[in-house]
Amino acid sequence: MNNRILLSSPHMSGNEQKYINDAFETNWIAPLGPNVDKFEQELASYVGIADAAAVSSGTAAIDLALNILGVGVGDTVFCSSLTFVASANPIIYRGATPVFIDSEFDTWNMSPQALEKALIVAKAKKDLPRAVIIVNLYGQSAKMDELLKICNQYDVPIIEDAAESLGSMYKGQKSGTFGEFGIYSFNGNKIITTSGGGMLVSNDVEALKHARFLATQARDDAKHYQHSTIGYNYRLSNVLAGIGLGQLEVLDERVAQKRAIFAKYENSLSLIDGISFSPELTNTFSNRWLSVMLLNPEKIRITTYDLINALNAENIEARPVWKPLHLQPIFQECEFFTYDEEKVVSEILFANGLCLPSDTKMTAAEQMRVIDVIVNTIL
Ligand SMILES: *Cc1c(COP(=O)(O)O)cnc(C)c1O
Repeated sequence: MNNRILLSSPHMSGNEQKYINDAFETNWIAPLGPNVDKFEQELASYVGIADAAAVSSGTAAIDLALNILGVGVGDTVFCSSLTFVASANPIIYRGATPVFIDSEFDTWNMSPQALEKALIVAKAKKDLPRAVIIVNLYGQSAKMDELLKICNQYDVPIIEDAAESLGSMYKGQKSGTFGEFGIYSFNGNKIITTSGGGMLVSNDVEALKHARFLATQARDDAKHYQHSTIGYNYRLSNVLAGIGLGQLEVLDERVAQKRAIFAKYENSLSLIDGISFSPELTNTFSNRWLSVMLLNPEKIRITTYDLINALNAENIEARPVWKPLHLQPIFQECEFFTYDEEKVVSEILFANGLCLPSDTKMTAAEQMRVIDVIVNTIL
């Protein structure tokens, strides 16, 4: 049997061990330490933002951002529907209610028209959201200019979920730096990983100081252990931050590799009538974290599941596009806004999209194997 070809797996640079050894030699086997400080500074400088706080996951970073924005019981928070569940779960942790917003075809991300529609309704009900979580799916930036303009008009802060778009750009500015807060994830499947970890970024240095305080059990400035606020244990370990430092060194190289993988799929497969690929909006630059293919059901006689099964039979991992959150059993009761009721974009993308192996360790011959299976199954 051929080697299994994976969607996206950890890809070390070789220098991670050096930073881990530093942690061991100095006995900084703790949350916090010099690797964490350096990882925060280097990431902040890479994306061009004032400050970054390293945390235990992207999910924790979203939870902290909501907390600092004052999201609590009885509040609503808007969130992209087409995303991984972790974008919205922290809304529930805060005791707030999510409202889901549909995608648009140009970016597959939050539709500015659907957002505006939802805000008009919310304003009429005197229930404007406390925050809007905008996701940049599979590396593609959302239409930040349009979305920012609408949110500013209603004075609602943005949390940019850039878990999948580290290294991507929108009009020359790094993804994740547009909102009040941005978050990144270093989970094992992301473009760079610390095995598990995340980062909260902002130009509001005071807010990030507060985030660090909340993330380390919210200890008051006193000689004894005193707490006036509920805190969390959300900080990143100094050992894992060492992995992050080694990974940051190769981030741009990984972006180039991911883009080359995407280009090869697109060049080899988009000539087939009925196959298209995830977009890259003019003036944006995607890290192409995952290559996503779209089947036109009027032209392709098999479904995405047929193709996923055919690939799996050849030991190749492929997955459907994220199932929209407004269709998830846990969010059944939540409101959902779409621009065109006849054409729910996130549902169309879910029904017809599949994520192809985008592993930067995949060889050219292995990618050809993937392409061969797709061609043979479809034609
Ligand atoms: C991975 C991911 C997260 C969560 O990050 P974790 O580090 O796994 O907690 C959040 N949002 C999106 C869109 C993701 O892909």
